[in-house]
Amino acid sequence: MSSTFVGAVADDDTGAADLAGMLAERGMRAAVILDNAPPQQLRTWAAECDAVVIGTATRSMARNEAYTRTRTAIQTLRSLSPQRLAVKYCSTFDSTPEGNIGVSIDAALDATGERFTVALPALPALRRTTYMGYHFVGDQLLSDSSMRHHPLNPMSNSNLVAHLSTQTSRRVGLVSYPEIKAGPDAIRSACQRLQSAGCAIALLDCVDDQQLHSIGEAICNLPLISGSSAWGMVLPDIWRQNGSWTPSTRGELVAPPGGRGVLLISGSCSQATQSQIAWAAQNGWPIFSLDAIALARSSFPAETVRRAAEILMRGEPCLITTTRESGADEVQDWAMQHRFSAVEAGERISETLARLAADIMHRCTPAGLIIAGGETASAVMRTLKLGGLLIGPAIDPGVPLCLSLAEPALALALKSGNFGAEDFFGRAVQAIHGIRRDSATLQKELA
Ligand code: ADP
Repeated sequence: MSSTFVGAVADDDTGAADLAGMLAERGMRAAVILDNAPPQQLRTWAAECDAVVIGTATRSMARNEAYTRTRTAIQTLRSLSPQRLAVKYCSTFDSTPEGNIGVSIDAALDATGERFTVALPALPALRRTTYMGYHFVGDQLLSDSSMRHHPLNPMSNSNLVAHLSTQTSRRVGLVSYPEIKAGPDAIRSACQRLQSAGCAIALLDCVDDQQLHSIGEAICNLPLISGSSAWGMVLPDIWRQNGSWTPSTRGELVAPPGGRGVLLISGSCSQATQSQIAWAAQNGWPIFSLDAIALARSSFPAETVRRAAEILMRGEPCLITTTRESGADEVQDWAMQHRFSAVEAGERISETLARLAADIMHRCTPAGLIIAGGETASAVMRTLKLGGLLIGPAIDPGVPLCLSLAEPALALALKSGNFGAEDFFGRAVQAIHGIRRDSATLQKELA
């Protein structure tokens, strides 16, 4: 019998880890399970968890495929009989006018038969806020932020009611700042008003944590919600207080001994990741910057595999990234010349990075793996057949320390491009070493 209270479907694996991390921080036993894990395996891994987040990697897929995979994942979750379901996407609303956030919400509404849900993209803790339907990253409108230059989903429209409306045939309405500010009852009434007016999705403004809490009170009984990971910061406490969910004791995350060094793979072009790579360079870490166009052509230097494995054998961190000399524009020019879309070029780069990671790990099993970039993490996780992750404490907001559920257990951190402080890589490596135990200690702890 499953103990799953809440099940969520995330459009990428770093996002899944972000949400599961928020829930784990608030006392839920949480796991991320990839949608390619066999159903029986999923049930075994999910059995002891309060929260199960399925990573679908649908963010950049064709609409039809994203719809089918999200619908299948929701059906899989329903087989665990959770009391609440959610669709998780990025707090910078990463998507194109064609999809896939609206498509994923459609799939969840169709799979559950629900007629109404909310969309809560804001994440005030990371300064992603929504005001009168317009989305902000820090002080800037989304369309003025660095997200405007994202290689796969450049965000050029900050009006999320308009943007989401292009992705779904359902009607989208807004619960605006004054209604949100007026508190939970006003939010519930606004949702009812929108539903009576024929809206199936209510986009919720939210500019601070107090409003996030009011929203949590208002939506805590909805069977299906959608949004960033923000609701994960408030709903567990509300569910606990209103008696919907009772926490059980949660064990500490412990990684078995074995493995050397920490392998870091970054395919993220985001500003935060670039400053983290600069931090690693300043601290003298070995870094391999590989030509992005060569990676898009599916090739990487065999020499890199050998040298990276040697570095790991010495017990050091080793960072593999893509060079910024072949920036997004050059990669796009190359893609056009070869009749690939920007998304296909990005996928080719991620897949080559994933093969490279597999080759390095074949030569030397690392003590841990850190992956920066949502698409990149999905490619690496799937190529390495890691299957699922048990979620531990946060290294930085939105980036928990994890342990792979497939054997042999590997300590991991999956970081969305925009997340993490400048010294994130340093602290993530420390956290990975911190949960490792030698055999004797481990046996004592398990006894
Ligand atoms: P983020 O979380 O920062 O958005 P992702 O991994 O989701 O990172 O997306 C970055 C995409 O850009 C991936 O598909 C990756 O393969 C691709 N990419 C990596 N390096 C480059 C580069 N130098 N130029 C263009 N695209 C790149």
